[in-house]
Amino acid sequence: MCASDAGMIRRIGLLGGTFDPVHFGHLRSALEVRDWLGLDELRLIPSARPPHRDRPGASAEQRLEMVRLAVAGAQGLTVDDRELLRARPSYTVDTLESLRQEMGPAVGLYLILGWDAFCGLPSWYRWETLLELASLVVLQRPDYDLEAPEVLKDLMAARSVAGPAGSQAPAGEILLLTQTPLAISASLIRSLLAQGRSPRYLLPDAVLDYIEINGLYRPGHNEDSNPHAE
Ligand code: ATP
Repeated sequence: MCASDAGMIRRIGLLGGTFDPVHFGHLRSALEVRDWLGLDELRLIPSARPPHRDRPGASAEQRLEMVRLAVAGAQGLTVDDRELLRARPSYTVDTLESLRQEMGPAVGLYLILGWDAFCGLPSWYRWETLLELASLVVLQRPDYDLEAPEVLKDLMAARSVAGPAGSQAPAGEILLLTQTPLAISASLIRSLLAQGRSPRYLLPDAVLDYIEINGLYRPGHNEDSNPHAE
């Protein structure tokens, strides 16, 4: 049952990422958060020009296409391409502002972050504004053992709510979700491919087929073989 079925506010989950490429760690997280919060929709939002990392191995269009292939037919999972349509760098705060403007103040927006991403939040552009625009769902991730900076510990003490039932506001809350641990990362998949090894069963077959057809992440894959690289 979705939040809107129970006469509650509409709830939308947002999972941003480089998705270079999208894998079952992302997709399983998306599904578990969708069910845990009873979301009406969960949007995966590929980042066009990630401000925090090196240039991705696949172009923005290719990463978007892989996410589209990955969620095809999955109920409630959708793809939002607004970061690709924007000329400036993909700051999450801009994305949330544009979503909030579009959806109005009453819709519950839930920005999903892995624990590693959450711990790095204070370096994000206008990070303190994020909580004015959305709540945060922070996912435990098994391959990271980071300690949150003090400023985030204080924030968690002030803003945490106990699970989906305790979440009432359209923004401003922090929810912690311990999920099925899947120690999959896009870096692992890229590294397997670069070594000529198969990443099958770490990501959807449709995505792997796309990678193979387009020769992505293989040794020798570079701007010349990828005219769409950013
Ligand atoms: P890379 O290995 O290239 O850094 P990644 O696998 O971490 O990539 P991103 O696109 O950077 O993928 O991740 C997008 C979001 O998904 C981040 O919030 C990240 O913490 C989360 N995430 C990625 N992999 C997992 C996983 N296996 N389990 C839970 N969350 C994950």
